[in-house]
Formats: sequence, structure tokens, C-alpha cells
Amino acid sequence: MFDALTDRLGGILDRLTRRGALTEADVAEAMREVRRALLEADVALEVARDFIDRVKARAVGVDVVKSVTPGQMVVKIVHDELVKTLGSEAQGISLAASAPVPILMVGLQGSGKTTSTAKIGRRLTTREKRKVLMASLDTRRPAAMEQLAMLGEQTGVATLPIVPGQTAVQIAKRAMEAGRLGGYDVVLLDTAGRTTIDEALMAEVVEVKRAVSPHEVLLVADALTGQDAVVTARAFDGALGVTGIVLTRLDGDGRGGAALSMRAVTGKPIKLVGVGEKFDAVDEFDPQRIANRILGQGDVVALVEKAAAAIDAEQAQKAAERMRKGQFDLNDLKEQLCQMQKLGGMSGIMSLMPGVANLKKQMAGANIDESVFKRQAAIIDSMTKAERRNPDLLKASRKKRVAAGSGAKVEDVNKLLKMHRQMADMMKMMGKGAKSGRGPLAGL
Ligand code: GDP
Repeated sequence: MFDALTDRLGGILDRLTRRGALTEADVAEAMREVRRALLEADVALEVARDFIDRVKARAVGVDVVKSVTPGQMVVKIVHDELVKTLGSEAQGISLAASAPVPILMVGLQGSGKTTSTAKIGRRLTTREKRKVLMASLDTRRPAAMEQLAMLGEQTGVATLPIVPGQTAVQIAKRAMEAGRLGGYDVVLLDTAGRTTIDEALMAEVVEVKRAVSPHEVLLVADALTGQDAVVTARAFDGALGVTGIVLTRLDGDGRGGAALSMRAVTGKPIKLVGVGEKFDAVDEFDPQRIANRILGQGDVVALVEKAAAAIDAEQAQKAAERMRKGQFDLNDLKEQLCQMQKLGGMSGIMSLMPGVANLKKQMAGANIDESVFKRQAAIIDSMTKAERRNPDLLKASRKKRVAAGSGAKVEDVNKLLKMHRQMADMMKMMGKGAKSGRGPLAGL
């Protein structure tokens, strides 16, 4: 899977990580190479371009975490943006509807539609313990109906008995009726495929869709056809509205162009991938795992993540130590406010403090939101360095200036200083409490 692309990208990124320092020109050159590699892998031009732009924008002036080289940071950024391009989160088939849940399988002939229907039937039966009924709506090719019946026997999934002479819509309705009467959870409807998209085919599928209101419309596309698969997906989506994509033959796909462009071009998630001819050769499409596979740089990504986490913890530890010693000044408060903003609430440094659960409750009760954190940080920014270290220096006239400088009122400045005083006092007490084990808040 993706071997050719992985080789190319691996070479480019390895060269980056081996270097100590990187100039902007180095990054630009590497990104030119990445872009070329993506285009050779048959990734859609606009997807490749957008991807490179995003990586470059993030890579310029990025903070390099200790123990990590700039090159490694760039690899991490490439990885993150790749995950985004692939769709960020894994999305499986949804069955959140009343039973029997109709799922419509559509796609061109030869894309692997019937095989995928059987694979999904088996997966839902064995993994999710659902009772599944499969039906072929291919009225023009009796062989297709027989193929599904045979796959049903091999996988142990029930199929709708074949009744010659019925239209696709009639079969679909009969399948839903049988699904209801038989107590099935899911009804998989395998529609007729064609070698190319034609109007008659689309009209028939649209009619079936109207008749059964499927919960999922899954387009099956062959990864080996590259951009053709993406174009097909767009056409089906335009005519029919699909809810997800099943990308087959990923096992033989060295390039990865379809997998990489599908989500960005169609806006629809790849839900499952076919990775072989056997019935269990179907996987969830997990952007994280696929990105790791394409880049082959899992180690570097893990290293950067760990280093970034360690740095935060290190800073937190130092700040907590200062607090314990009663040295909690406005610089520390600002750092806290930024942390809270970043983390969306009370955590980080605070969680290292003893008795913090109580403080958290108080803060939550005070209904502090992100904009408040931002405003308070702005007030601190307007103070001089000396004032931040020693707030007692702030007399009335300076408070007025600070308020004006940060677009706040003197009252806001006073509130902030009061909050700081209370927090500093509380931390001093908690610090003592932690040492002796008998402080006023130690038992909380
Ligand atoms: P349909 O015409 O779209 O229904 O296509 P079929 O389901 O009959 O599949 C056509 C061929 O592709 C069969 O030989 C399948 O075994 C094969 N096939 C389907 N999915 C995959 C896959 O994910 N990997 C591989 N290697 N072969 C597949």
C-alpha cells in the first residue's frame, strides 16, 4: 500500500530530519519536492497545492521544541496536515436509524461493489452482531444476482431470494419488506453497475433511493483508477448525494492519489477500504494510521509529540514550584491565563497544585470564559516588567494608563489585581499545606 509514495516522501523527509538547522529556502525546496511527489502519485493538483501552502504557512517561524530538530518539526507538520487532508477522524458506517437500516451500494461495474457489499455484510454480522440481509438490484445481469447469492452463502449472510422479472425498485421494496418481517437490522442493496456513468443508470439509482430512503449511500470506487475514481465519486455525489466512500484495491495501490484526494475534492469521508480479495480484507479508513503509513515517519511524529508534551510539563513544574514558594507574580498569572485559554479551562499547571479541585470549582462557578482570559492577559501586557513582578507599584495614575492601554476600565484592572492577590495567597497556603500536610486546604 502506497509504497511508491512512501519511498519518495521518505527520502525527502529523511534529508530534512538529518540537518541541524533549516533555512526558509531549505523548507521551500523540500516542499517543492513533496509537491512533485504528490503529483506523481496522482494527487489532484488543487489538493497538492493547498496541502503545500498549509505546511509552508505553519513551518515558517515555528517554535522548535527542545530535543527536536527543525526538520523533525517540519515532518510533524507534514504529518498533521496529511491527517487533515485525509479527513481527520475515522468515520465508520452509521447504523443510527430505525431497523431495518437501508444501505445503498453504488458504483461502476468492476469497482468491487458486490465484493464490498458481502464484506460489509460479513463485518456487520461478525463484529457488530447485526442481522443483515443483502439484495442485488442488478436486473440486467442475472449473473450479478447469482454472484451475490453465492457470496452470501460463503460469508453466511442472508440474501433476498431471486424473483425474475422484477424492476430494481420492486426488488428494493421487497427487500425492505423482507427486512421488516424477518427482523433484520440492516438491508444492503447492491445496485447495478455500469462501465461508465450513464443517465439511465443514474435515473434508476435515483428512483431506488427515493423508494427506500437509504440511511447511507456508499459509493464504491477503485483506488487503482486514481483521479478517475475521484471524478466518478463527484459525478455520483452530484446526481445522487452519497454519504461515504468505500475505496477498494488499496492493497495494490502504490501511489495513493485517490485516497489522498477523495476527501478534499468530494467533501465526503472514505468510510472503509478494501485491502484484498478475501471477505475479511476490509478496514476502517483511519486518517492517522493512513498518514503514518504514507509517511513512514511514525517515530519522528511520536518523538515530537512527546517532546512537546514534556516541555509543557516542565514549564508547569517550574511554575508550580514558584507558586509554592509564594512567588506567584503577574507574569505567572498571565501564563496561567494563556494556558487556560489554550486548554479550554482549568488544567495544566493548576492540576499540579494540591487542593486544586476546590479552586477549580470556584473558578467554574465564576463563569470565566475564553474572552475574559484574553482581556485579562491584555491588561497584564500593558504593564511594565517591574509592575508585573511587583503589582504594588501600580498606583492610581498607572492603573488608568494600563486600563487605557488595554482597552479596559480601571475597575477591570482592580478586579484582576484582586484575583491575583487571592490566588497568590491561596497558593502560598496550599504550598505550606502540601509541605506540612496540615495546611488550611490540605484536606480538600
Ligand atoms: P463489481 O462489478 O463492482 O461488483 O465488482 P466485484 O465485486 O465483482 O469485484 C471485481 C474484482 O475485484 C473481483 O475479482 C474482486 O475479488 C476484486 N476486488 C474487490 N475488492 C478488492 C480489493 O479491495 N482488493 C483486491 N485486491 N481485489 C478486490
